[in-house]
Amino acid sequence: MSRRGLVPSADPGLYFRAHYHRLQRAYDRVFSSGRFILGEEVRFFERRFADYLGVEHCVGVASGTDAVTLALYGVGVRPGDEVITVSLTASGTGVGIMRLGALMRFVDVDPRTKCMDPGKLEEALTEQTRAVVVVHLHGHPAPMPDIMKIAGTHGIGVVEDCAQAHGASIGGRKVGGFGHAAAFSFYPTKNLGAPGDAGAVATNDPEVAERIRSARQYGWNESKVSDGYGVNSRLDEIHAAVLNELLGVLDDGNQRRRRLADRYRAVLGPLPVALPAPHEGNVYHQFVIETEEREGLKAYLREAGIGTSVHFAHGLHHQPAFSDRSAHLPVTDRLCRTMISLPIQPEIAEPHFDAIAEALLGWGKR
Ligand SMILES: *Cc1c(COP(=O)(O)O)cnc(C)c1O
Repeated sequence: MSRRGLVPSADPGLYFRAHYHRLQRAYDRVFSSGRFILGEEVRFFERRFADYLGVEHCVGVASGTDAVTLALYGVGVRPGDEVITVSLTASGTGVGIMRLGALMRFVDVDPRTKCMDPGKLEEALTEQTRAVVVVHLHGHPAPMPDIMKIAGTHGIGVVEDCAQAHGASIGGRKVGGFGHAAAFSFYPTKNLGAPGDAGAVATNDPEVAERIRSARQYGWNESKVSDGYGVNSRLDEIHAAVLNELLGVLDDGNQRRRRLADRYRAVLGPLPVALPAPHEGNVYHQFVIETEEREGLKAYLREAGIGTSVHFAHGLHHQPAFSDRSAHLPVTDRLCRTMISLPIQPEIAEPHFDAIAEALLGWGKR
């Protein structure tokens, strides 16, 4: 419980405290190396994370939002190009696309997966469409084989937004290796989190990797001459060192999230709520249920000492910075009204599961 007596819906502090000896080891290595930018830790993490995902290349960057921008740049998107994505996602997806000067258009999600509906993507494609950003929302893999088939037919680039899906898989193959490039965030609350902002781009294409390596550091070539698009978006050694330590416990954390999801399914089965679609490769970044009585449930659980979160009360298409007046997204609009996230972070949900379950059953009987 937090100081206010509420079981929090997420608390990265508890995750870092649980692995404190690993963080200490990481800090000791970096401070004794005296190297803070693009050194051994970053190189080692890029290699290990690429191997973990089963891809050829990984480029560490400064955030998930930067990873979206640089992944799009890497696959050839330029200002004025059209990029199709979903509205049911974090702001970082939208900002990452917009910052490149691309024109964003939104398609609706499949009500089961809450990820991009491939049929809607096919209907939305135009001559101007250059790329699509697919989001694996809440840790549930989007239907990549269908999306890759459509993209291949129409010759468009595919960027996977894997910020909520470290280790998620389809048929045993990890997400992040299906598209032309994939963006990861290591924001503290993600399944693999750093104690600060950090991100990475994964790709199987050496030219895409090379363009991103140059762009993340001033657009430099090997002679440190800026000869292309560039920003400063490097992964810090200190974060890479922590990620090298925590990558070793990612699968364990994902397995614990899956077990918690099974326990939630057993408790919630009889209650009037919609559960996440079952998928063996889901890593449950969030455990999200749907109810028309969201406000009542939220208040009831709060009264019982259980914190919850509403992550997307408004789709991107309703937010002024991204607004797309032509977008008609009834599934997204309904989900934004009905979705609520229950605690799933293992350090919180494991010790408090019985109390959470009791509160949910109490709400069901109210
Ligand atoms: C967290 C997140 C981002 C942004 O990542 P940052 O590291 O916060 O920039 C992008 N897309 C999705 C789906 C996210 O969940």
